[in-house]
Formats: sequence, C-alpha cells, structure tokens
Amino acid sequence: MLNFADKLQDNIFTTVSRVCREMNVKVFVIGGYVRDLLLERQSKDVDFVVLGSGIAVAKKIAEAFGRGVYAKYFKNFGTAMINVGDWQLEFVGARRESYRRNSRKPIVEDGSFSDDQRRRDFTINAMSLSLQIKDYGQLYDPFNGLEDLKNKLIRTPLDPDITFSDDPLRMMRAVRFATQLDFSIEVNTFNAIKRNKNRITIVSPERVIDELNKIILAGKPSKGFKILDETGLLAIIFPKFVELKGVEIINGQAHKDNFYHTLQVLDNLAQKSDNLWLRWAALLHDIAKPVTKRYEKGVGWTFHAHEFIGAKMVPSIFRQLKLPMNERMRYVQKLVQLHLRPIALVHEVVTDSAIRRLLFEAGDYIDDLMLLCEADITSKNDVKVRQYLKNFHKVREKLKEVEEKDRIRNWQPPVSGEIIMETFGIKPSKQVGLIKTAIREAILDGEIQNNFEEAYRFMLREGKKQGLKVKKIVDNPQEKSN
Ligand code: ATP
Ligand code: MG
Repeated sequence: MLNFADKLQDNIFTTVSRVCREMNVKVFVIGGYVRDLLLERQSKDVDFVVLGSGIAVAKKIAEAFGRGVYAKYFKNFGTAMINVGDWQLEFVGARRESYRRNSRKPIVEDGSFSDDQRRRDFTINAMSLSLQIKDYGQLYDPFNGLEDLKNKLIRTPLDPDITFSDDPLRMMRAVRFATQLDFSIEVNTFNAIKRNKNRITIVSPERVIDELNKIILAGKPSKGFKILDETGLLAIIFPKFVELKGVEIINGQAHKDNFYHTLQVLDNLAQKSDNLWLRWAALLHDIAKPVTKRYEKGVGWTFHAHEFIGAKMVPSIFRQLKLPMNERMRYVQKLVQLHLRPIALVHEVVTDSAIRRLLFEAGDYIDDLMLLCEADITSKNDVKVRQYLKNFHKVREKLKEVEEKDRIRNWQPPVSGEIIMETFGIKPSKQVGLIKTAIREAILDGEIQNNFEEAYRFMLREGKKQGLKVKKIVDNPQEKSN
C-alpha cells in the first residue's frame, strides 16, 4: 500500500482532517492535486471529497481557519470553495452522476466513495489520498492511475464511449491533459474520441475555448493541435485553422504547409512568452494564406496582402470562438497586420526612417511584434534559419538605437494642433490635420529632427504653402512650463 503522508503535512491538510474527524465525516484529497503531487508539479488547488455534505463541512473548515478566509457556497451544486492564503480548496460530497442524451449536465445523487471515483474523467484524475487518522496519506487508486501516470497515458476509467458521450467536454480535457503533461492518449480512449467527436457540439463554446486556451498556453501547444486534428475535433471547433493544411505543387514548385508552419511558430513563441494573446496572434498570423494563395507564372506561390486580409478576419474568428471582442482582439489584429514588417527590414539596408515608421505604427506592441516575427522564422534548412536570425538581430539592435535616439514609441509630434491654430489664428479644421500630418511625416522620414524648433519652422513653411498668414509666434510650451 502506497502512503504519501509525508506530502500532506501542511496545516491545510491536518486542519481539514481534524475538523472532519470532529464531525465524524470521512474526507479524501482527490483528482488533480493528487495527480500533480505524484508528478511533482506544484499546485495550490485542492479538491476534497467528503462522505457527507460538502457545504456543512466547508462551513466548519472556514470557521477553523478563522479570519481572512474567503468562502463561497454553491447550494444548487452542493459544492463549496474556500480560499486560505493562496490555497484554493474545493469541497464536494461524494456523488453519483447519470446523464441524458442531450445535455452534459448530469443528474446528481448522493453516492459512495467509489461512485465518486467512478464519475471522474481519467484514471490519473480518479486517485485519492485518505485524510483519516488510521490510514492518513494512503493512496486509493481503483483504476490503476499510478501505472498510467508512469506510462504517461490518458485513459478513461470506464468505457470511453460512455465517458465521452456523457460529457463530451472530456474529449477536450483529454487533449488538454495530454498537451500539458506531455502524455499520450491511450488507443481505445483515442478511438472513442474519434467516434464521439460530433458530440462536442452540445458543449458550450465558452467551455471549449477555455480548454483550447489551456492547450495554447502549454509548453508545446503544437502537440494538442495535432491531436485535435487527428481526432477530427479541430475541424469541428476551429475549421478555419484546418484550412491552412496541405501543400500544392505546380511546375514542381511547392509552398510550405501553413498548418505545420503555424504550429512551429506557436511552439517557437511559447519558448519566449506566456502571453495568451500573443500566442493567438501566432496562431492567426497566416490565417488568410489559403484565401490569398495564387500561383503566378515566373514568380511562384504568392500570398499577397494576407496580413491585411488576415487582420480583417480576426473579429469574425474571435466572435465565432467566443473570444473577447475588446482591446485583446484589436491587439491580435494589429500584430497579424504588422507581422511581416520587421522581417521585411532584414532584406534591405535598414534606414532610420524605416525603423521610425515601424516604431510609430507598432507603438507599445513593438516588443511583442518582434517576438512574433522572430518566431516566424522557420525553415527545414538550419543554415538559412541561422542566417536569418543573425540579420534579424541586426534589426533589433537598430531598433534599440533609433528608439533611444528618437523616442518614437507612443510619440506625439512636438507641435500640437492647438499651436497650429494659435499661430495661424484658425479654427479646428481639416487644414490643421493636414499640417499636423505633414510634420509627422517629415519627422518619420528624417527630413527634420524630432524637436520643437525644427517642427515649428517646418510648420510655418507648410502653412505658407497653404496660403495661411502668421498671426502670432508661439513659444515652445515645454520651455514655458520649466
Ligand atoms: P487543473 O486544475 O489543472 O485543470 P484538475 O484535474 O484539477 O486539473 P479540475 O477541472 O480542477 O481539473 O477538476 C478537478 C477534478 O474533478 C479532476 O481531477 C477530475 O477528477 C474531476 N473532473 C473535472 N471535470 C470533470 C469532468 N468533466 N468529468 C469528470 N470528472 C471531472
Ligand atoms: Mg483543479
């Protein structure tokens, strides 16, 4: 009998154990926490199953922990959550679940401890540890999850066709755990996902995207996408992405398979950033390649304007997937639109003005854009990749240099609309905008320096060209306030 008492010495576990003993209720740690403990993955989310009322137990436990504890009770579900410091504890009474055909919401009845283990999704999630004094820390592992843990396998405890048909979200969870833990899905379980894939449509899109986002946030997200593709789930939940698949050959010329290329970009980026939305930008950066693909004689394969068309596709993809329609969406859109810009600079002699334009357009997104663009450098040819990365490094250096010199990021031209209006004695108008734009362009092009004096002199010339008369010479407002 395996015992893990030494891993359950934290005050959290001893307190829960004591309170339950006083209430004469049996309690076990179950699910993800046990799995992660055996895998030596840190976690502070603990699920407890009690042979009694989860809510009654949780109330006593919240009392025992005293002040500073935040507890929430869900009477309808018979569950309770307690936050103690950075621990998140969830209590539920042992239960039995049965399902109807058209809903993933079960009919719930009180059940025994083994009923409760049987309702769990995977063998590795059904293991539990006793908190009773007489066998404190003993592992209860009815489906030999430990063996699956050793062999890195995701397997359902019961007939997988029933498990997945009952609650199809479990198919997404299987792929998510395989990706997060770098496990394989056991073959019968895998085949059952293939057979039951269409059941995913009864799950709310919010739940599906929640799991997909967890896959995207894993260390090597490509693994999850490949499984989603092989099982047929991907074509149901995210068909646009599957359209990236395939290689066409004309006159012996092939283009990249953009599905695998995109996944490689995502994996590259995952090494550098945990930002979910930057990872989404990686997923979507080439999304318009299928619709823009042409074979041009003498040129080969082209994907003209795929960055602009891709950016235009982002809102409808976000809407369909129930991703947020807010500044996050606009951030992804902007990165998709600009994703070719830094790499274009690799091919040319990099001028200050090209860099200034990039900085001006990307604003605060410049660092993320550079990460995305660097991740986008993929090829089967290592020498090519290395050469590219080296050139890219030069663009980065130049960017730093220009940024320090000119401070263009989030920059406003040194002469404002108010100053233009005051100088020429005019009201807000299109003319003011035209002059402002001319000043900005002159600075970005390096025609004039980025300071008040040069910008002001330029403005006077520009106004004259447009037939305006000077009413008043205005001082640099920055200096006045000093
Ligand atoms: P993580 O917290 O990393 O997502 P977890 O295994 O703790 O992993 P939770 O969603 O927190 O996952 O669920 C806790 C436990 O509840 C699981 O370990 C599993 O035993 C059970 N469980 C959760 N969702 C389901 C489900 N859809 N079907 C069956 N059992 C489930
Ligand atoms: Mg959990």
